[in-house]
Amino acid sequence: MSSFATTPEWDEAISAISNSKSVLLLAHVTPDADALGSALGLGLALQGLGKKVQVTVGEVGFTTPASLSFLPGTELIHAPEELSPVDLVISCDVSSDARLGIAKQILDDAAVSIAIDHHASFTGFGTIHLVDPKAAATAEIVLELIDRLELPITQEIAGAIYSGLSTDTGSFKYQSTTAHTLRMAARLLDTGIDSASLSRLLFDDEPLAALVMMGDAVSRAKLIPQAASGQGLVYTSVSLAQRPGLDELAVERVIEALRKATEAEVAAVFKQADDGHWKVSLRSKTTVDVGAIANHLGGGGHKFASGYSSSSDLDQTVTKLINALDDKQTN
Ligand code: MN
Repeated sequence: MSSFATTPEWDEAISAISNSKSVLLLAHVTPDADALGSALGLGLALQGLGKKVQVTVGEVGFTTPASLSFLPGTELIHAPEELSPVDLVISCDVSSDARLGIAKQILDDAAVSIAIDHHASFTGFGTIHLVDPKAAATAEIVLELIDRLELPITQEIAGAIYSGLSTDTGSFKYQSTTAHTLRMAARLLDTGIDSASLSRLLFDDEPLAALVMMGDAVSRAKLIPQAASGQGLVYTSVSLAQRPGLDELAVERVIEALRKATEAEVAAVFKQADDGHWKVSLRSKTTVDVGAIANHLGGGGHKFASGYSSSSDLDQTVTKLINALDDKQTN
């Protein structure tokens, strides 16, 4: 059993930062804009405070993905093999230590580490916890931390944090979006960031090959009306052969198209990873807790958005999901 403080440990986090000279920020593997934007935004703020800052992702030879290369602060990013030792490690948006990838050892070895996260499924690693499942994004917690450190929000910091906030709220339209979220977004816009340009790069910018792959994936979608106790499941899959020349990240947005299907409460995309195994993205609309389903299947996430990995083949993976949806519904 893991344990962690369920109330954010602000005082402990602030004194750990004050006592450090060098900081390593970790985003989760296959980073999204919340993970990397939070790490970069906090990294830029801590650099402003005079700390030596490095940012990484626990993937061999990690470099910034092209789809996130516009984030401010990418000059702080180093491959995990090229890091200098630090006296404080901070993880951003990482719900379980498996999501640290090869950087897990660095966090385990750190005398002091801060985990900043907003997943209800957070598993409890690190020595200090800033974990708030009610936060719409890890970026929301990062902004509060920067405020509590009384550091200025530069345009660069605002751009990184805004990217995380707008990504995890689906452009401020998901259930997690509160008046507080919008007030924070307004503060970030007040710094003068170009939110229209950021939004286009975050949501409306895909290579044509990715659009063609998505169209193909949607055209092969299957609807199972009786799944999830009759609330319906829509799903599709993308094998390695079905995404020629495209990386894993390109497949992440297929779920954004599929989740719109009127006929289904739950949407799933089965994505074959570069190493051949299947990863599953889940979304729900109102009643089904796909975070609990993903937990049950060895993953994690939020009530309406989650994911997990499968060691079975595609057919078995699909069947297991349908069974899990029915088990959960009849509980
Ligand atoms: Mn997040």
